[in-house]
Amino acid sequence: MIKVKNLTKTYRNGQEALKNISFEIEQGEFVYCVGPSGSGKSTLFKMIVKETEITDGSIQLNQYRVDRLPNRHLFMLRRQVGIVAQEDLLLPHVSCFQNIAFSLKVLGLGPKEIREKTQEVLELVDMQAYQQRLPEELSIGQRKKIAIARALVANPSIILADEPTANLDIKSAVELMKLFLKIHQKGTTILLATHDSTMVNSIRQRVLELKHGHLIRDDVKGGYSLFSDPKDVYVW
Ligand code: ADP
Repeated sequence: MIKVKNLTKTYRNGQEALKNISFEIEQGEFVYCVGPSGSGKSTLFKMIVKETEITDGSIQLNQYRVDRLPNRHLFMLRRQVGIVAQEDLLLPHVSCFQNIAFSLKVLGLGPKEIREKTQEVLELVDMQAYQQRLPEELSIGQRKKIAIARALVANPSIILADEPTANLDIKSAVELMKLFLKIHQKGTTILLATHDSTMVNSIRQRVLELKHGHLIRDDVKGGYSLFSDPKDVYVW
């Protein structure tokens, strides 16, 4: 569950990135966050995990009041959230298996449990065959799947995915979106920032639309814009 109330972010240089936005997301929802570049999507995501300070307003994430959480307790908040970042943050010199397993090692799990949980998510993203490869030996779409597996392995209640289909060909983008749907069906909340109007119009879910830091639309019926082109739909 995410409850955002009157959230405002002004960066130190005076740039206002979010202006008094409010919304609530229930556990298990799938929500797109759309809007042009610079509209505040990444800032919102960073504030949800307290990667950047909140200027005003509040965020509640499950049992945690993010804006009041002392830094020493941040790890508890971040355990609830799996992040699929825009940039590729995989460790370049270790295998895909180790990249995923690392998230569990830092939580102090034993080798057997690490092996089992890592295999489980590798199977979920259909990447078992590639587990011993280095990230550079994979395609961009395959690397994204490993990044998703890593985000999921500690069983977070929420996945934040920032432009996951950027730079992917249509086939890989569709495959990735099917994977997000599968994860959603398992009960995980998904908040997915995207520019991909075709995807948003093809797989209809709730849409939050940001423009110049304002929340200008919260639409349960979805669609990239009110005037979406009916041709703008993938054939599955
Ligand atoms: P989006 O993810 O929708 O592209 P961002 O959240 O990255 O938008 O940016 C929102 C606004 O905040 C933009 O005007 C951007 O230039 C500004 N911004 C983002 N990060 C910083 C920062 N660290 N310092 C100052 N301004 C920033």
